[in-house]
Amino acid sequence: MSLPVGRFAPTPSGYLHPGNLMCALIAYLSVRHAGGRFLLRIEDLDKPRCPDHLIQDTLSDLTYLSIRWDEPPLYQSSRTSIYEHAFQMLRDSGVIYPCFCTRNELHAALAPHPGDTTFIYSGKCSHLTPEQVQSLSAIRKPAMRLRVPDRVFSFTDRLQGLVSQSLQEEVGDFIVRRSDGVYGYQLAVVVDDAMSGMTEIVRGRDILSSTPRQIYLQELLHLPTPAYYHVPLLSDGSGKKMSKRNQAISLRELSHRYTQPQLLGFLAYCAGLLPEYRETTMDSLISSFDWSLIRHDDFVIPPRFLQAL
Ligand code: GLU
Repeated sequence: MSLPVGRFAPTPSGYLHPGNLMCALIAYLSVRHAGGRFLLRIEDLDKPRCPDHLIQDTLSDLTYLSIRWDEPPLYQSSRTSIYEHAFQMLRDSGVIYPCFCTRNELHAALAPHPGDTTFIYSGKCSHLTPEQVQSLSAIRKPAMRLRVPDRVFSFTDRLQGLVSQSLQEEVGDFIVRRSDGVYGYQLAVVVDDAMSGMTEIVRGRDILSSTPRQIYLQELLHLPTPAYYHVPLLSDGSGKKMSKRNQAISLRELSHRYTQPQLLGFLAYCAGLLPEYRETTMDSLISSFDWSLIRHDDFVIPPRFLQAL
C-alpha cells in the first residue's frame, strides 16, 4: 500500500489560533505516524488580505511547534495559470455561466439557509441570453458561477460519519472565479490537493459543508477523492467559534506563556490524544497517534489554559 500524503493549508489572513494549530498537529501526526509525507500550502489567493509578514509568522509558528514539511510550501497566489486550465475544462463542459449580480443585489436576493449562515444564490443570471450577456459585459466584469445539479452528494467523513448535501437546495450555483479574476477557494483547493497527490484531508469542521462542492468539482475534473477528516473546532468558552475574525488568542501570545512541550501537550489534550494535560514531545505524539482517540465534537478550552500559566 502506498504511504499517505497529507497537508495543512492555512489562509494567512491572520495569526494562527489554537484551533488551526490543533488541526495542523493532527494532520501532521496522522501522516507521520504512518510514515507518510506532509506538505504545506499557503492559501493566499486573496493576496491583499495575506500580507507577507503573516505568511512569515505562519511558517515560524509551525516551526515552533516542530511541524516540518517535505517540500517547499506551495503558494496559491503563484498558481493562477493552473487554475485557469481547470476553469477552461469546466467551461468547455458547459457548467459555467457569468454572473453580473452586484454585492447589493446578491444580498437583497439571497435567502439565508435555515440554521446556517450559507446563502443560496437565487440563480438570477443562470438563464441569461447571449445578447443579455453581451450587453451586461459592457457595463461590468462578471463573476463566474458553476451550475450545480439537482442531486444529493454523500460521502463518509472519517470523523463525522455520513454527510449528505443537496447542492441545489443547500448551496446553489457557486462562484469559481470572482469578478476581479481571482479563482475561488473551492476550485483552487480541489486542483491543488489532486496535483499534490493528497490522500487525506484533515481540516476544521467548519469546512465540512464545502466538501460536497469539492467532490462535485473532482467529478467534473476527473480527479480522485481523498479521505476526509473534519476535526472539531475549539472555543474559548465565550460561545463564539475560535477564528481569526473573532480575535482568538494566537500562537504569538501562547508561545510567550508555553514552552514547546507544554504547547504540544495542550494541543494534544484539546484534540483528545491525551486524557489529561501534560507536557509531551513530537516524537512521543507521532509514535502513539491514534485516530480513534480524536474528539468528534467541538471542545471548549478550559480557561486555565488561556490564562497566564
Ligand atoms: N485555507 C483554509 C483555512 O485556513 C483551509 C482549507 C482546507 O484545508 O481545505 O481555513
